[in-house]
Amino acid sequence: MGQKSILISTIIRMKNVVTVVLGALSVMACSSQRQVSTGAVTQNNPIIKDKYIGDPAALVYKDSVYLYGGHDEAPNDFNFYKMNEWLVYSTADMVNWKAHPVPLKALDFKWAKGDAWAAQVIERNGKFYWYVCVEHATIPGKAIGVAVSDSPLGPFKDALGHALITNDMTTQTGITWDDIDPTVFIDNGQAYMYWGNTVCKYIKLKGNMVEADGVINVVSLPNFTEAPWIHKAGDWFYLSYAYEFPEKIAYAMSKSIEGPWEYKGILNELAGNCNTNHQSIIEFKDKWYFIYHNGAIQPNGASFRRSVCIDRLYYNSDGTLKRVVMTSEGIH
Ligand code: CA
Repeated sequence: MGQKSILISTIIRMKNVVTVVLGALSVMACSSQRQVSTGAVTQNNPIIKDKYIGDPAALVYKDSVYLYGGHDEAPNDFNFYKMNEWLVYSTADMVNWKAHPVPLKALDFKWAKGDAWAAQVIERNGKFYWYVCVEHATIPGKAIGVAVSDSPLGPFKDALGHALITNDMTTQTGITWDDIDPTVFIDNGQAYMYWGNTVCKYIKLKGNMVEADGVINVVSLPNFTEAPWIHKAGDWFYLSYAYEFPEKIAYAMSKSIEGPWEYKGILNELAGNCNTNHQSIIEFKDKWYFIYHNGAIQPNGASFRRSVCIDRLYYNSDGTLKRVVMTSEGIH
């Protein structure tokens, strides 16, 4: 090839490069135009944008969903949980959420000294029972209490006057926070409470919902950290839980709420900038939802200033769960 033809060939190559670059720029311009044109799709996650909320637990009751969570009150320069009260919101469509007055505070339990940690409300015979985790005032460690109300919006009051579970009742691990994250499910009239950090445990509850019926049982699950949640679809029970730390959400399945549980894998990935995930799973108006928290409110959202997000949950034909896809758009 002579010098002239090399020059021509170089010019052609450069032209090609310019064409490619211009093409790419025009695609980028189109896609940014598309982003503008689809800007009408609002970002519904997180669902509450004016407060930090962690540990969402949802209750389906009649034509509404009630969402309970702990109020994250940690200042921006404080890197641990600061939680004094729980909050409640309601919706009839999973999109528009209504705030209600504070229904319960940690110090409403006279035997507690603070820490409105993870909790769940369920209904039985027209009464609403709220299983909470707080710091016990006299028995070192976390404890589980029960509050009760005639309305899902409260006001709730301590149903027992003492804790249902205290740290000294469970000795499988020496940590003082192994009695946290209660979840309650009623199967054929029999109520069960699962809970735990590091070790997953369950008890049966008596019909009055505030007393244990029998011994504390231990469930073996791979890399169990905390945050068990029980739900049922068809004839399968599902035990989802926080896996490893920072947390993913994994799950196991069984034909009985008492197990044996068969581990099925990861359900949801790390929740971005938040070291916990804390799922709640519900069916509402024939659709399944995965409710969780992350640090979505910026610039200060993070592990101790969390936000509640909701995405759909889908099943495979064999009953296993499809991996959750976390989205900014959320539910529409
Ligand atoms: Ca314990």
